[in-house]
Amino acid sequence: MARRKKLYEGKAKILYEGPEPGTLVQYFKDDATAFNAQKKDVIEGKGVLNNRLSEFFMNGLSQIGVPTHFLKRINMREQLIRSVEIIPLEVIVRNYAAGTLSERLGLEEGTLLPRPIVEFCLKDDNLGDPLVAEEHIIAFGWATQQDLDDMVALALRVNDFMSGCMLAVGIRLVDFKIEIGRVWEGDFQRLIVADEISPDSCRLWDIETGKKLDKDVFRRDLGNLADAYTEVARRLGVLPTNATHAVKPTLIN
Ligand code: 5GP
Repeated sequence: MARRKKLYEGKAKILYEGPEPGTLVQYFKDDATAFNAQKKDVIEGKGVLNNRLSEFFMNGLSQIGVPTHFLKRINMREQLIRSVEIIPLEVIVRNYAAGTLSERLGLEEGTLLPRPIVEFCLKDDNLGDPLVAEEHIIAFGWATQQDLDDMVALALRVNDFMSGCMLAVGIRLVDFKIEIGRVWEGDFQRLIVADEISPDSCRLWDIETGKKLDKDVFRRDLGNLADAYTEVARRLGVLPTNATHAVKPTLIN
């Protein structure tokens, strides 16, 4: 493989310089981390599954007119993406109480929320990605009021799309996190969905059994993470329907 310039290495992905200006190559690693990287492991096949799943969701979003950074999948672990200026906020959408919302407000996990709730966390590992209010975001200049309005609108469209996709295959979308980036088109800027959408950044529960099919399997030691992600990919038709166990990277191209 041609030698490429590594631009950034995160916990689950690496970004390389892309073949054309304004593009990047996003490489999905098998590394799993939780609790701000205090818990770590390597889960064989996770990167391959997340590459395919993120492609699936980003393509679906484009088809309904939600702009994303995804251009094309290059191989099992890599995809070509648009280079964006990442807004330093994690955008979380919640449909049911779970995780830090349950802890913060004393809500039982699985409680249906009155409506989808959008939260913002500052992307800062040293601080543990703290929850921030719109007041902080605007006062500190992380985004403008217009950006915030656009981010909420984008996040809710992603929520509708993802909730529908999951419901169709018997999975409840409890919550998820996305990242949003800014791109410039001439003098105009617009916000697009960036980073990844995969079971690493969603809570997905089987509707019938409540079984968790997302990164909580790793965070809470509930079983084999690759098996859970394989189940999601299989139900969505991203993998052959007879693939019931953790997919080996050689099984899919
Ligand atoms: P919570 O705030 O309850 O921990 O997380 C809410 C949702 O956002 C969950 O679906 C969780 O997976 C996702 N999420 C929150 N922070 C992160 C993060 O730093 N990385 C990833 N991959 N997902 C996150």
